[in-house]
Amino acid sequence: MEKFSPRKEVLSISPQGAITSMEEMKKKYRVNEMHRMNANENPVMTSKKAIEAMRREVEQACMYPETGRTALRAALAKKFAVEEDMVLLGNGGDQLLIMLSEAFLNAGEEVIVPDPFFATYALGVSIIGGRLVKVPVKKDGLTMDLDAMRAAITDKTKLIFLCNPNNPTATIVHKREVEAFMQAVPEHTLVVFDEAYHEFVSDPEYPDGMDYVKAERNVAVIRTFSKVYGLAGLRVGYCIAPRAIMDILTRISPVFPVNRIAQAGALAALEDTEFLAEAKRVCQENRAYFMAQFDAMGLPYAKPEANFIFVDTGLDAVQVNEGLLRRGFAVRPGGGWGFPTYLRVSFGTREQNEAFIAALKEVRAELA
Ligand SMILES: *Cc1c(COP(=O)(O)O)cnc(C)c1O
Repeated sequence: MEKFSPRKEVLSISPQGAITSMEEMKKKYRVNEMHRMNANENPVMTSKKAIEAMRREVEQACMYPETGRTALRAALAKKFAVEEDMVLLGNGGDQLLIMLSEAFLNAGEEVIVPDPFFATYALGVSIIGGRLVKVPVKKDGLTMDLDAMRAAITDKTKLIFLCNPNNPTATIVHKREVEAFMQAVPEHTLVVFDEAYHEFVSDPEYPDGMDYVKAERNVAVIRTFSKVYGLAGLRVGYCIAPRAIMDILTRISPVFPVNRIAQAGALAALEDTEFLAEAKRVCQENRAYFMAQFDAMGLPYAKPEANFIFVDTGLDAVQVNEGLLRRGFAVRPGGGWGFPTYLRVSFGTREQNEAFIAALKEVRAELA
């Protein structure tokens, strides 16, 4: 008999869930408060209407969620003017991103991603044993290099992840570039438009992945309630894709991917247009604030179109990060993405942002 062994692809992946909790970080750095500017959460917090809807739904917790034609799915279909069977809910966009690899990729096939990229893409690809083809962002502006991504397409390219705005850079690519790119994508390739930050973009040249869904191209659009809707803790994301794609993806969906309390909260959030407008307004104000501060400090940054900013501190970001942690600010140093002097900073409340900038100035003075 052979020795017991897991799939070899799985052995190449590190265990998830090793992220240090805020409570541990507070203890380690001996601070009373650790400001969460590392996860692109919403400083406007959560719609009161969503909270009310969740409270009411708690009473129904003994019942399984609706499956199939849920009210949330219907509301999303209506909002985007697509059929209900073109919408699939997931336990966060994360789950759907992994499912796309599980449903479409064969071992050995290629997946093109921008570099730097959102780590979840690699997880799905590793589970299957696909080959990640990383295409560096442009040196100038740190936007996805669609010409280079197009040149990387081969007979074996099954998936392409376009993250627009990209995480961690917060930059977008424009409609014209995406249109030229899509014209060159062959039939055997599925393009995933990860639009987790879609609602924050203010550039009028920003393309909408949904247009390619409606044109019935081989595409899938991923969006989420975690960012602009302020519901990261609930875990609700959705995929919108043409029927031919959905027919495959729905085969591997869990029966109950999103619990009923989360569905109720997301539905109420979707309908709370006032909250949405406020979240967008605050994000734009924050963008302007950070850009002005970094301009004044002479720190280069990628032009942000999301609720965070990727800034070059000009110093070792690990050391800068340590100094910030000791002052109670958690951000993301860029080393893991190949940008050792950069920080990814999520926008907080006005008070947090001002205190962060003051702390960063102290740390820079200390390290100089
Ligand atoms: C946050 C995020 C998502 C989705 O996150 P969920 O919380 O799982 O919905 C997807 N893509 C990118 C690039 C993100 O930053």
